[in-house]
Amino acid sequence: MNKGKLYIETYGCQMNFSDSEIVASVLSDDYDVIDKATEADLILINTCSIREHAEQRVLNRLSELNALRKNNSRLQIGIIGCMAERIKEELFKTGSVDLVVGPDAYRSLPTLLKKESRVNINVLLSETETYDDIHPIRYDTNGISAFISIMRGCNNYCSYCVVPYTRGRERSRNPQTIINEALSLFEKGYREVTLLGQNVNSYCCDGVNFARLMKSVAEINPLLRIRFATSHPKDLSDELLEVMSSCSNICKSIHLPAQSGNDRVLKAMNRKYTRRWYLDRIASIRKYMPECSISTDFITGYCDETEEEHQDTLTLMQTVSFDYAYMFKYSEREGTRSANTKADTVPEEVKARRLTEIITLQQELSGKSNLKDVGKTMEVLAEGTSKRSEEHFFGRNSQNKVVVFPRGSCSKGEYVSVRITSCTSATLTGNLIDN
Ligand code: SF4
Repeated sequence: MNKGKLYIETYGCQMNFSDSEIVASVLSDDYDVIDKATEADLILINTCSIREHAEQRVLNRLSELNALRKNNSRLQIGIIGCMAERIKEELFKTGSVDLVVGPDAYRSLPTLLKKESRVNINVLLSETETYDDIHPIRYDTNGISAFISIMRGCNNYCSYCVVPYTRGRERSRNPQTIINEALSLFEKGYREVTLLGQNVNSYCCDGVNFARLMKSVAEINPLLRIRFATSHPKDLSDELLEVMSSCSNICKSIHLPAQSGNDRVLKAMNRKYTRRWYLDRIASIRKYMPECSISTDFITGYCDETEEEHQDTLTLMQTVSFDYAYMFKYSEREGTRSANTKADTVPEEVKARRLTEIITLQQELSGKSNLKDVGKTMEVLAEGTSKRSEEHFFGRNSQNKVVVFPRGSCSKGEYVSVRITSCTSATLTGNLIDN
């Protein structure tokens, strides 16, 4: 029997990209993945609900894709991921979807697709689903770096966040299945894995915590680099930092979302740490790994945030001197604790001005951080041809900074030594050094 053609479009976080690979695997008996929506029998949009803007983008895209039905009467369109969980009724009302499936219900996709009903839906959340027996189909990778999802869900209930409602309670995947997946990727030529979870460092399964899991994955082969995302400051243990510092193939880079530099705002956000606690964790990172890069997230203009409280965010940024940051204006999400109990009082223009201030400061800090690397020689994993020219490769160093260099005779997937000669606030540029 000929297989159908499946086109998957993914929005949002790395977990979603990893989930799309699981979905491709779940449907692999009936569908091959293709990269053109116009030729598909089934289109799945894997969605994100974190901000209103992200949802609106998907709704616009849905109406564009719906127009393809004119030339293809067999076409089925499904919404999967967080929006399926959060706004299922609204999705029905669009009249453009055949399928609505939440993040814990992907195993039911083959059955749902065979049903005759007008719209098929499964948005049941699970307390146990980890997809640990599914071998993801890496249909859109560079063959060098891959994601491995190690835990799902989140128990933290930060006041502004929809994730605990769309992805359910935390559950961790069996450690041996994670080690097997990393080993199999290494044997296929992959040289970097990123262990993923909404709250990755609260991983715990069969007595194995995140630090021990990282050590076991690092022991697979010294040529396999390990990264992880995203950590919560309250779960960043010294045990993990010790493991990171002792394993040369665990990348020296930590993404540690701060969200605000002010204690009252952090409490209102239910972040479960203070500015002092956060700075203590930064001091620990620097004690164990002085060379470690630190990136973060900030939300500006959160409910009632005053000018002084905003200044606390700016001073925290200066104190830590982050290498990189993702920064957003607060956007109220229906159903969260913030939306139910607090007013979104900071005017839009004030939020926009504060966002500009933190972005400007971060560009300065990122520029300074990169400038310190000029003149250094560093190990870079070559990932592919640079956008700049066919003659240049790009890759990343242990600190997760993008490095561009002349490709010379090196191949994708090779570790090379690069001496940095110049930089912008986003990229390092250098020359290959013979080993
Ligand atoms: S830790 Fe907070 S921000 Fe992150 S997914 Fe959980 S609730 Fe959302």
